Amino acid sequence: MQHIRDAILADASGDELANIPIPEAFRAAYVKRSETAMFEGVDSWDKDPRKSIHIDEVATPELAPDEVYVAVMASSINFNTVWTSIFEPLPTFGFLNKLGKESVWGKRHDLDYHVIGSDASGVVVRAGSAVRKWKPGDKVNIHCNYVDDQDPTSHDDSMKGANQRIWGFETNFGGLADLTVVKANQLMPKPGHLTWEESAVNALCASTSYRMLVSDNASRMKQGDTVLIWGASGGLGGYATQLVLNGGGVPIGVVSSPEKGELLNQMGCEAVIDRKAEAYEFWSDPHTQDETEWRRFGKRIRSLTNTDPDIVFEHPGRQTMGASIFAVARGGTVVTCAATSGYMIEYDNRHLWMKLKRIVSSHFANYNEAWAMNRLIDSGAIQPIMSAVHDLEDVGTAASSVHHNEHEGKLAVLCLAPEAGLGIDNQEKRERIGEDKITLFQRHARSLTAKAE
Ligand code: NAP
Repeated sequence: MQHIRDAILADASGDELANIPIPEAFRAAYVKRSETAMFEGVDSWDKDPRKSIHIDEVATPELAPDEVYVAVMASSINFNTVWTSIFEPLPTFGFLNKLGKESVWGKRHDLDYHVIGSDASGVVVRAGSAVRKWKPGDKVNIHCNYVDDQDPTSHDDSMKGANQRIWGFETNFGGLADLTVVKANQLMPKPGHLTWEESAVNALCASTSYRMLVSDNASRMKQGDTVLIWGASGGLGGYATQLVLNGGGVPIGVVSSPEKGELLNQMGCEAVIDRKAEAYEFWSDPHTQDETEWRRFGKRIRSLTNTDPDIVFEHPGRQTMGASIFAVARGGTVVTCAATSGYMIEYDNRHLWMKLKRIVSSHFANYNEAWAMNRLIDSGAIQPIMSAVHDLEDVGTAASSVHHNEHEGKLAVLCLAPEAGLGIDNQEKRERIGEDKITLFQRHARSLTAKAE
């Protein structure tokens, strides 16, 4: 990959890139099928991604006609990196087995190792014979919706496709690597004002938040809506907060430290609840929820905005869902895409039906939604929320940090990019949007490190 990296850094033309041979192997972060039982009997919290994630060379898969090879300059850690690396709730090799049975091209994915990662920025270095819109030399971001375009169920909303998958989680050859193979319909133009790593952190979390809040497929936020956002400075929440502000809504951000609260204020979110300082205990024991705590939480929200939230942006799951359904306004919507703290959910159904509330499910984003979100980032309306940068060799440590909620925003990973700060093609646009806005999360993380030292 060295020749490819050098050529990209030297701004080689598409034709030049197309003439550099694709290597037979490349560096990648992966988990092993033979190790899926390695954490048996270990508490979830103590399962250590540093033990299960390996960095080494893997064989380059063949290219299907509708696919491209992308030289990955940077990638990012997502929570699905954590799920794969701790083999919860299931080892992801089951997904690869299933994909392997679908077609000869699917068979390539069913291997004894799983290359992980569901985000990337990079450069197209080869395009399959059926690819029309992309060519070697194109600078791209990759979104993770892996769609079977020959399946009729994919053609209303591709997220409803019967065999829709998440690239790098339910497929092999993910983005935490120097090379990846993706379908052409996963590509989006890289915003020219961002570095490789700032560009790589956005697609998965930002597009998920976009569908949850903005798109017709979930809660359809309106101007003036109040939106309660759990984990408002985390991967999903950091984009949700911006989308609410950008769409004329009023965010109420829930976080777990004064520092994260300060970061939200700097983003323009004035209403902040520090769930740790205010010590909400929605479960009085593992089987019983405490309605008086729901009421205390609801009262606190009203003290900030004078109203109940029109929308609750849910993803912690079991720990918070009962409170979310209680707190959302009469006729309001709880939109959920995840269950980090447990997926067997319990809530008081009387609060749901008597007050005409809705629970709406959401999952990643279709191509159109991901593209719309990428355009908002490209226009400078929404900023990347990258707080720190790791090397590919360090993916285990970065995943461990996300697993233990030690991070803010998103953690980027450098793959072929030799250092942070490269890849900006449009400095004038960057200056117009504002360095301060683009780098808010990075500067905040650095100031916390400086304070700690
Ligand atoms: P993240 O970067 O770790 O942020 C999540 C935030 O949620 C944390 O920063 C934390 O903020 C808060 N949180 C965690 N546990 C909590 C709890 N028990 N109670 C209240 N708040 C809690 O992760 P993310 O990238 O935002 O992803 C969050 C979840 O969504 C994960 O389970 C992920 O797998 C899922 N997800 C699903 C999709 C999809 O397409 N369906 C897409 C992206 C992510 P504070 O500590 O500051 O409160």
